[in-house]
Amino acid sequence: MSAPSTTVTTSANCWSCNAATGGAHFCPACGKIQPLQKGTDYFAFFGMPQKLTIDLATIEQRFHSLSWKLHPDHFARASEDVRQLSLDLSSQLNDAYRTLRDPVARVEYLLSLNGLRKEGQKKQQAPPELLEEVFELNESLDELRETRASDGSAAQMAGLRAKLESAQLKFESSLADVDQELARVSADWDAALDSATEESEKKKLMERMNEVLNRRSYIRNLVNGVRQELEGT
Ligand SMILES: [Zn+2]
Repeated sequence: MSAPSTTVTTSANCWSCNAATGGAHFCPACGKIQPLQKGTDYFAFFGMPQKLTIDLATIEQRFHSLSWKLHPDHFARASEDVRQLSLDLSSQLNDAYRTLRDPVARVEYLLSLNGLRKEGQKKQQAPPELLEEVFELNESLDELRETRASDGSAAQMAGLRAKLESAQLKFESSLADVDQELARVSADWDAALDSATEESEKKKLMERMNEVLNRRSYIRNLVNGVRQELEGT
């Protein structure tokens, strides 16, 4: 048997001894490192279901254990292909860990797996409940820029700064609300997986997550924009 020359395989058997691998990273019979089974996503990489509530201690422990086992140092005397495989899997492990340990990136990833996350497709609209506040914020920002350009008085600048700081606090609190909403819909998703919910219902949940993520990124951009403007004064 020759060593694998690709990172992904459609075979369910070990490249070296032909035993069934069950999708494990190492052959249960001979212990040789294995390419990924086709369709292995980040969740499967860690041997986890596609659930959004992840115990961080568990995933951290799996990450460290896999990171050690896959480490290229262990394969210094192996064939070129096997060494390359350990490098590729280590790099995928890092990507998978970085994505799954972050609750927002985790949801984005789940949606992209299902073809539902298309960021940067169109300019995001202000969430209806924030329309008025966004309008006021833009006015204050314009005012600040004009005052700055026309060398307004220190008192004027301080007043505008205070206004923007209070708007920023408000948007930061909206961001915290959105994160809570994301946690709630994530919990609903996990419950749906447990109860074998119909695909159409799952799709609805994913659309909800997508909507929450869009709102989140809109608000986060606002908060960052105000911060930059304040730092520039
Ligand atoms: Zn084997």
